[in-house]
This record gives sequence, C-alpha cells and structure tokens, in this order.
Amino acid sequence: MINVESLTRYFGDILAVDRINLDIRKGEIVGLLGPNGAGKTTTLRMLTGFLRPTSGSIRIKDYGIREHPLEIKKLLGYLPESAPLYHDMIVYDYLHYVADIRQIAKEKRLPRIRKMADLCGLNEVMHRPIGELSKGYKQRVGLAHSMLDDPEILILDEPTSGLDPNQIVEIREIIKKIGKEKTIILSTHILSEAEATCDRIVIINQGKIVADGTTESLKQSDSGECVVNVSLKNADLESVRKELTSIDGVLSVGRADDDGGGILNLRISCRSSADIRGDIYRKIKGTDWILLEFYRETQTLENIFRKLTREN
Ligand code: ATP
Repeated sequence: MINVESLTRYFGDILAVDRINLDIRKGEIVGLLGPNGAGKTTTLRMLTGFLRPTSGSIRIKDYGIREHPLEIKKLLGYLPESAPLYHDMIVYDYLHYVADIRQIAKEKRLPRIRKMADLCGLNEVMHRPIGELSKGYKQRVGLAHSMLDDPEILILDEPTSGLDPNQIVEIREIIKKIGKEKTIILSTHILSEAEATCDRIVIINQGKIVADGTTESLKQSDSGECVVNVSLKNADLESVRKELTSIDGVLSVGRADDDGGGILNLRISCRSSADIRGDIYRKIKGTDWILLEFYRETQTLENIFRKLTREN
C-alpha cells in the first residue's frame, strides 16, 4: 500500500530524516514512535505531499509522490499536530464546508457528515461553535475532517497530544474503530498509546528507523543482554561488585536508584544466552548480605524505547 525507499530530508544542514525505508500493508495501524525532534512530523509531512523529500521515493498504491501528488492526496486523510480549524464556525457548517472543498457529491454530503458525527461522537456538539469546544472535541472535529471524503489511508500526527486521560482513551477507541477499515499511520511519543492502538511500531531516532515490528516482536528481540535487579542490605558496593562480576555471564554491576535505609539496589547486566540467576543467588547465599529483592527485568516497550533512543 505504502512503499518508502531511502527517504531523506534536510533543512539546511539539519538532517531531519535519514534514508528511511518502510513498507506498509493495507489495513495496518502503524505507530511512528520517537522522542522530540526524531523526524516523525517531517516523515508524515513528506508522506502527505506537504513537504518535498530531499531524496528518496514514496509510492502509495500505484502512484509516485513526485509524479502524482494529487492522486496521492485523494487517497489520504491527514490530521496535522495542531489541526487548523475555523473557530467561529459551528461544527456542522464546518464539515459541510470541508465536504464542499473536497468536492464530495452533493447527495453524499449529508450522509457522510452524519456517519462521521456518529463515528467521532460529535452529535451533541454539531451546532456549537468550534472555538467553544474542549480540546478533545476539537480533535474529534479534526478527525472527522480528515475522514470526510472516505480516504483509504489516514495519517495522524500526535492525535492525542494535549488531551486528558479520558479524552485520550476516547480518541484511541475511535482510531481503533477506524482502523478496522483503513490503513493508519500515527505518530506519538506516548508508548502506551502505541502499544494499545497499533499493530506495528516503528521507532525513529535522529531521523533513522531503529526498530520496526509488533510490540511482541520488539519485546522478544534479543539485544544480547538481560538485567537482573537485586536489593541487598548489609552489603557494600565494592565487595558486591567483586563477587558478582566473577560469575561467568555477568557483564556489569551498576547501582540503581537509591531508596535510602542502607539498602543497595543493583542492576546486574548479564549475557542473555545464559540464565545465571542461580549462580547469582548462590553467591549471595554464601555471604552475610541480606537479600531483600531479586527479579529479572522483563522487556517493556519503554525499556526498548529508552535503549534505542538513549542518545537523546
Ligand atoms: P516532535 O515530537 O517534537 O514533534 P518530531 O519527531 O515530529 O518531533 P520533526 O518535527 O520532524 O520531529 O523534526 C525533526 C528535526 O527537523 C528537528 O531537528 C527539527 O528541529 C527539524 N525541523 C523540522 N521542521 C523544520 C523546519 N521547517 N525548518 C528547520 N528545521 C526543521
């Protein structure tokens, strides 16, 4: 459905997007995840044809973005980060106006507006000025706008940014509902949002794709390391380090956040090919340290994200 090859964009000397490759299949909900300034918005703006790539290619269905920008625009609905809306207009008139400029056939306008009002939960505010609506409702109007002419692909730039937790859940539910029929690419830096909404997650950092897969596949991807957390009392860092680093498979022993009270919290980084929890336990058992906590860290999307974007 969407094929991106070696997509690159410079702003002067700033390399915002660096040779990105992406293949997105019909019906996928793809989350573009990355820290501030990673290049998410720039990528989305190039996909929608609002920004020219410095180099590389974008093909959507059978169209190339350079040769067929208008055909591509017809396939896409775009919700920019701060959706530009006319605040003086009432919601109903605004959607009519959008239907008009999108050249939706006259007889189809009303049914389409009704459908969007139902889908985006706008019925109770259809006759209120947009400027008086809460941010969550404004976002719903933006979503309805982006879907009014029934595009096959939706591109949503941080659709839940600035919303309260209830509004976030509501917008997320709408996106999931839409995702049953459409291909969606959304950008976010909220990990739980990507995890809850998307089939596939693409992590971007400093303009480059650093991970691409389902949440599960990302969690299972073996980085060669695992972390065992240990909390000890009656122990000092130097002797613990000396004992534990003598175990084959322990890569390093670092201090984790201190919670006072003479407790030593440690992060023991180990080669993931060997489960050496037994060895660590036996070492500790042979001392007079008091073991308060002992667990292996499970991979979370947050851990993966932090590991991959640490330089930022
Ligand atoms: P955020 O999560 O903060 O929105 P982002 O991942 O969407 O960040 P971009 O907005 O794509 O990141 O920015 C990527 C890089 O390109 C940043 O260094 C940014 O400063 C730079 N950049 C983006 N737009 C422009 C522009 N119009 N002129 C100059 N530099 C720009």
